[in-house]
Amino acid sequence: MQPLRVYSVVPKLPPKLKPLWDLAYNYWFSWNTEIVSLFAQVDHKLWRECYGNPIAFLNRLPQKTLESLAEDDFFLERLGDLRQRLAAYLARKATSIPFPDKTGEPVVAYFSLEYGISLCLPVYSGGLGILAGDHLKSASDLNVPLAGIGLCYQQGYFRQYLTPDGWQQERYPIYDFEQLPVTLCKDASGGRILISVDLRGEKVFAQIWKAQVGRVSLYLLDSNVPENQPASRQITARLYGGDLEMRVRQEYLLGIGGIRALTALGLSPRVIHMNEGHSAFAGLERIGNFMRENGLSFEAALELAASSSVFTTHTPVPAGNDRFPPELMQPYFEDYAKKLGLAFKVFLALGREDPRNDAEHFCMPVLALKLSRFNNGVSLLHGVVSRKMWNRVWSQYPVEDVPIGAITNGVHVPTWVAQDIGALYDRYLGGNWREDPDCPRVFSQAQAISDAELWRTHERLRERLVGYVRVKLREQLLARGAKRKELLISEEVLDPQALTIGFARRFATYKRANMLLQDKERLIKIISDSPRPVQFVFAGKAHPHDNEGKKIIQELVQLCTSSECRYSMVFLEDYDMEVASYLVQGCDVWLNTPRRPLEACGTSGMKAMCNGVLNLSTLDGWWAEAWRPDNSVGWAIGQGEEYEDAAYQDFVESQTTYNIIENEVIPTFYERGHGNLPRNWIRKMKESISSLAPVYNSHRMVEDYARIAYVPALDNYNRLVKNDFAAAKDLASWRMDMMTKWSNLDIRNIKTGEPEQLHVGDPVTVTAEVHLNGIRPQDVEVQIYSGRLNYEGKFAQRETTVMKPTSTTGDGWHVFSGEITPGEAGRFGFTVRILPHHPLLLDSHSLGLIRWAQN
Ligand SMILES: *Cc1c(COP(=O)(O)O)cnc(C)c1O
Repeated sequence: MQPLRVYSVVPKLPPKLKPLWDLAYNYWFSWNTEIVSLFAQVDHKLWRECYGNPIAFLNRLPQKTLESLAEDDFFLERLGDLRQRLAAYLARKATSIPFPDKTGEPVVAYFSLEYGISLCLPVYSGGLGILAGDHLKSASDLNVPLAGIGLCYQQGYFRQYLTPDGWQQERYPIYDFEQLPVTLCKDASGGRILISVDLRGEKVFAQIWKAQVGRVSLYLLDSNVPENQPASRQITARLYGGDLEMRVRQEYLLGIGGIRALTALGLSPRVIHMNEGHSAFAGLERIGNFMRENGLSFEAALELAASSSVFTTHTPVPAGNDRFPPELMQPYFEDYAKKLGLAFKVFLALGREDPRNDAEHFCMPVLALKLSRFNNGVSLLHGVVSRKMWNRVWSQYPVEDVPIGAITNGVHVPTWVAQDIGALYDRYLGGNWREDPDCPRVFSQAQAISDAELWRTHERLRERLVGYVRVKLREQLLARGAKRKELLISEEVLDPQALTIGFARRFATYKRANMLLQDKERLIKIISDSPRPVQFVFAGKAHPHDNEGKKIIQELVQLCTSSECRYSMVFLEDYDMEVASYLVQGCDVWLNTPRRPLEACGTSGMKAMCNGVLNLSTLDGWWAEAWRPDNSVGWAIGQGEEYEDAAYQDFVESQTTYNIIENEVIPTFYERGHGNLPRNWIRKMKESISSLAPVYNSHRMVEDYARIAYVPALDNYNRLVKNDFAAAKDLASWRMDMMTKWSNLDIRNIKTGEPEQLHVGDPVTVTAEVHLNGIRPQDVEVQIYSGRLNYEGKFAQRETTVMKPTSTTGDGWHVFSGEITPGEAGRFGFTVRILPHHPLLLDSHSLGLIRWAQN
């Protein structure tokens, strides 16, 4: 039986408690622990049952409790104070970022398939989502005019539990958005705002939920509306659920639907940021809009869209990059391509590394690279890896010139720092560590924190972690139907005083969670040393289709439950933001063992770092740039080697890991001096906080994005649209002209007046004659490409020097000239090349046009 009408019933909150709704509906609570305490202290048990969701919590509080709270002056005073602080936060205009736009409307639209903002908003799976959540929070703190776009998954990402023999099971609770801190977007007359997209000829609708993240709005599209066919209602059922076709449908909704949602909401951001290739269809929709609304050609619209788009790639793992077969693309995009005025084959080429290869699948990161002029990887090393990985998109290019830069990720410090550590920072660094975490002066004061205070605080957090593990383990065991005797283990598991090593992350194979299992006897010896005990806490989910990952979990769990290990090794189920918080705040060491260079960045180690937890990791991702050879901020496993033989690598690196734990970590931790303090350990904690926290935080990251990408992209946009899009049209026709004439460019008669042998510091003049095929000399840049050579005679490093046009030959070739100076002794070589040059082209490499001198 279907009900005739449905109502949302909300509790009768006494008027004095109304401000509770304001606090509950702004995810500001997720980085203001006092608000969470305010809720939790009303009813800890209920708060925990509500999974950190203040709306569900308020809705479930008994009317009697509400009434007594309304009489509690102390509570009301705290509530009033917090409400006022939220108002002050929302009203603040200060910003360190010189955005040329002051309207307060979002200028940047940030697109992501997942967001990790709070435990109770189940639209994240792991690092990518947490990063997006931290990005929004820092954008809010920094007053960057940005709005987020994502999808609202009714079943979220799966929740993990294990069978008694350790095999991962997945469960999908159904979330009721009416009970979450989100509101449905409505139009002026009170109706739902609905957008639609065309999926294989079916008109599919989506409504929009808004999550308020401080000052930033996050809009989440939801296809579960009665207007849709049952299958289409499922598009937003699960994050990373379903098959490849489901992924196309989700990404269609995110990218194309996302742009339509912004319009329907009356927003017109001029810059878009594609967080991973998932949202790259957004670029197509913008192109189509510019064509339709402004009468631009496809080419001019593309210039405009790309010049104002930012793309961040997040993984070197091939499975992490969506590739769709042409047959799958066709029913979704054949008509769409027509509207863009493109033959379907030309359309497909936008997603192909080699545009002429009809067999190649349509690759989302490739599309994003072609539709954006600001591309970046997420650590310095990942920048290098990405340039190599996507070199084929710019096939004529030396890898250094592939236009993908690097902006290293960071974490939102106030979200991840434990309340107790935060209180220490308040006292020693001043309150502005929250607002200005990337100010080195602020964090340098961490050196002044009293050793005893820091250590006692840290020990309290370890104790809190142990308490949490015991409760969680008990719940896990009960759910598995464990016997009473087994339940007793959970009461005694872990020692609050013992050296605690944490390892928690997705169980992707490259992360090698089984590294420590290489030599189980040695591991058991490490944990059983009674005067100097060591214990481990593990957590993490394997992708539902990843049986290898599940096997690793099983192997690990079996060891954790063995009689030798069960008191000092624990696997916590259902890794989420709550488990992550306890772990990164309460462990002593954060272990990470990715197979270099497959970890693009990694962020959990940064969360640990800003709590004074020391990292022990292979030199991959952020650790490759953060670690210091004197081990003053933590330890490195190996020296950044990359191996051909994975099994051999695992063997070598596991031995190294045991060695470091035995010879460095354990002695430093247990070497106690006056007051039972481990002085050397504390010194590392302070060094790590004071030198790494100012760098690896998301304020620094968002400021980098603003400075390197958002502001220049907005400038570009403004320049290109002026005078009825004159510059966009000009740039497009210039580009077309270049493309037609480019293949006939030529270089001849390269001359240096110098002998074979040179001395360091001797300048060399190079001249070359260049045939420009009708292109004006100012439209190109002729460069000398020079540098030291390696033993194979290839450039080991290079430098580029611009040549100037000096004269013309009788047959119409232009003579260019420039001067280079070899800076060091050794084999040295040079060549000459031509690149396009236009004042509005941000990066002369982005067109993919280049001409090298032929031998
Ligand atoms: C931070 C975090 C991650 C990402 O950690 P990595 O070190 O990048 O693997 C994944 N899941 C959760 C729940 C997190 O909090």
